Amino acid sequence: MNLKILNKFELDQRIKSLVSKERELLHEILLTIKEIDQRKLYLEYGFANLFLYLVEGIGYSAGSAQRRIDAARLLGEVPSLGEKIQSGEVKLHQVSLIQKAARDVYKTTHKKVTAEEKQELLEQITSKNFQESQKEVASFFDLPVIETTTQVTQADESVRLSLTISKELADKIQQAQALLSHAISSNDIVDYLEYVTDRVIKQKTSVKVKADTNSRDSVNEQENAAIMEVKSFTARTKKILLNKDQCCQYKDPATGRQCLSRWFLQTDHKQSRWAEGKSVPENAQLLCAQHNRLKYRKESGLKYLSQ
Ligand SMILES: [Zn+2]
Repeated sequence: MNLKILNKFELDQRIKSLVSKERELLHEILLTIKEIDQRKLYLEYGFANLFLYLVEGIGYSAGSAQRRIDAARLLGEVPSLGEKIQSGEVKLHQVSLIQKAARDVYKTTHKKVTAEEKQELLEQITSKNFQESQKEVASFFDLPVIETTTQVTQADESVRLSLTISKELADKIQQAQALLSHAISSNDIVDYLEYVTDRVIKQKTSVKVKADTNSRDSVNEQENAAIMEVKSFTARTKKILLNKDQCCQYKDPATGRQCLSRWFLQTDHKQSRWAEGKSVPENAQLLCAQHNRLKYRKESGLKYLSQ
């Protein structure tokens, strides 16, 4: 369409009609995200969580993905949000204010904000601008000031961190630094972090090389191997895997997309134990906890079918 031929009234009408369609589409997108979330389908598509799916699989920026997740989940609790999104009375960043405040309330008081409270707050911020909404949300929950942590990657790829820690944690770090003063020459917290981090990585991933085995040892090894076949994987196998694979090996069979998450990794039997899979290194793989659970759920379905 040649927009140049439209006069100013026609252009005004056109953008209003397009924006209205855009809001309807947004509502449809939120309902679709809600369905994918409730059925945890992102796991099957090869992503460890909904956020990663929307960013890496769909192409949203981190902020856009989080706002859509917040809105899709609120839509599940407060269905009237749908009309407000379609009419434009409530914007996504206002929804995120409510959801973030609810998370903060839970963090500080362990009290869950109810759907009724969220609905009430939603009415209060309807048709308000962002600053007015911020004030409404803060006074509604009477939230204490929470110092947020910021993390900024700089030009040389170093990371600038700014965080607030409790007095108790600061005291504990000081005590640990004193105990490690023989090993760390400075009292710089960065040196301390590096030392502790190196120790954790070494402890979790280093594999001891076995000494030459004499005949008695090899009998023991055979026995151990037999035991290993029925028991779970040894710590050594886990460490070898953490060195080799380093991340979740789950792949969506349809697209080949691999999860690659490095969080909450678990050692899994490729061929499950109930299907006579052995606890030998060749049958081991790393899966994140979410995908390990997905595999288990799918296989337990299969297991019952085969019985
Ligand atoms: Zn995974």
